Amino acid sequence: MHSTYEELCSHARETAILSSVQAVLEWDERTKLPAAGGEYRAEQVTQLAGLIHEKQTSSQVGEWLEMLATSPLAADPHSETGAVIGHLRRDYEKKTKLPQSLVEELAHTAVMGQRLWAEARKEDDFSRFQPLLEKTLDLKRQEAAAVGFTDSVYDPLLDDYEPGAKTADVAQVLSELRNALVPLVEEIKGSDRKPNMKILTGDYPVALQEDFGKQVAEAMGFGFQAGRLDVSDHPFCTTLGPHDVCLATRYHEETLVGGLFSTIHEAGHGIYEQGLPAEKFGLPTGEAVSLGIHESQSRMWENLVGRSRAFWEQFYPVAQATFPAGFGDVSLDDFYFAINNVQPSLIRTESDEITYNLHILIRFELEIDLLEATLAVSDLPEAWNEKYRTYLGIEPPDDRDGVLQDVHWSAGLFGYFPTYSLGNLYAAQFFEKACQELGDLNDLFRKGQFEPLREWLRSNIHQHGQKYTPSELAQKITGKPLSHTALIRHLRGKFGALYNLPETT
Ligand code: ZN
Repeated sequence: MHSTYEELCSHARETAILSSVQAVLEWDERTKLPAAGGEYRAEQVTQLAGLIHEKQTSSQVGEWLEMLATSPLAADPHSETGAVIGHLRRDYEKKTKLPQSLVEELAHTAVMGQRLWAEARKEDDFSRFQPLLEKTLDLKRQEAAAVGFTDSVYDPLLDDYEPGAKTADVAQVLSELRNALVPLVEEIKGSDRKPNMKILTGDYPVALQEDFGKQVAEAMGFGFQAGRLDVSDHPFCTTLGPHDVCLATRYHEETLVGGLFSTIHEAGHGIYEQGLPAEKFGLPTGEAVSLGIHESQSRMWENLVGRSRAFWEQFYPVAQATFPAGFGDVSLDDFYFAINNVQPSLIRTESDEITYNLHILIRFELEIDLLEATLAVSDLPEAWNEKYRTYLGIEPPDDRDGVLQDVHWSAGLFGYFPTYSLGNLYAAQFFEKACQELGDLNDLFRKGQFEPLREWLRSNIHQHGQKYTPSELAQKITGKPLSHTALIRHLRGKFGALYNLPETT
């Protein structure tokens, strides 16, 4: 039985080599490729994707998994072998349940969808995108039906990004979060304390921003001996091999913070990737648990660490010395308040630590209604605007900055949005536990000591790969299921102090 297991693992590692080659091509496309090279690159990537899919769905894999199903190696899902067999089986079953024609139609519609979406957005014309979105929803319903579900058509789609998560549970936690956030935003709007946002704009040479960003990423514990930082219009993190983790960020001459927080966020993802066991690369036990857990790492570093006052007690003097024209005469308190400005706004990607979650909730609620066909696509723009009025008290002036602002739905990514907020929730719950176990982390951050937190994350989360599902991980680490309470405690504490809000019980 051991030799069957070994064969299964070598096959998975071979597939991982192809996938990592694909990752190199995609990384190059997003950071270096000249525009004229795009067409041939698309051919390369399509060819590779076909080879990878063939390997992943080969009947030989099915036979190995069948033989191993009743083996003692598969008995404990949290053991090395049990986790590998369990996850490969799950992936194999999901992939082989989808008819080839549906896979191809989904891929084709995603490419067409993104193109049409970009045009519709440019012209602020939702009706141009509407038929394509209707078709995409129809295909996603077919996909869900082929994979199978008992409760919600959304379940199998969510499961792609958040293995084991159930729509009803996520909806419960997120609605409790919404019920706590909407009044908090109202309270903040009513506060007479407001940061001076002008202090964040000035003159910040890109080369110096890059040095400063690298210095911060290195202090957090991102290893540049096994990673790099490049420039891209859309910041991202990708892994090209076991010791090759690439971050990309963007810079704006007139402000430091946009680019810097992107760098911190992506470095958070990168530290997770670098903390996975390199010798298990290509096996489920060498891979990240889920998008939600991945995002918990990036958001913990970005918001709970990077937007804390203690972090800036360490780094603000460095920033002032690096950018004297920008921050020379700005106090730490004014800077700290400005980087934590809370203000309902239209665009998700530019929103603050609190209202971000409401942007996600709106999308999550709408995409469930769309998939369950309780909301017609033709009514989507109005439903979108209605939710922005109710949750954030603002209304998009057009669809371009309203329902057409995100690429996700055009690319067929349904079930993806909630993982952003799940990330915030997991981050707060893990961070609270880390503070209980490591003592006052702020004291350490003030001295520039980030290693204890990083090592805590490594031993509690990173080193396990996919041995635990996201919800098992929350239970194992914090002794509790995921809930909104830790995040609300953090947000009330931090923003209550900044905006001078009355204490609540
Ligand atoms: Zn992220």
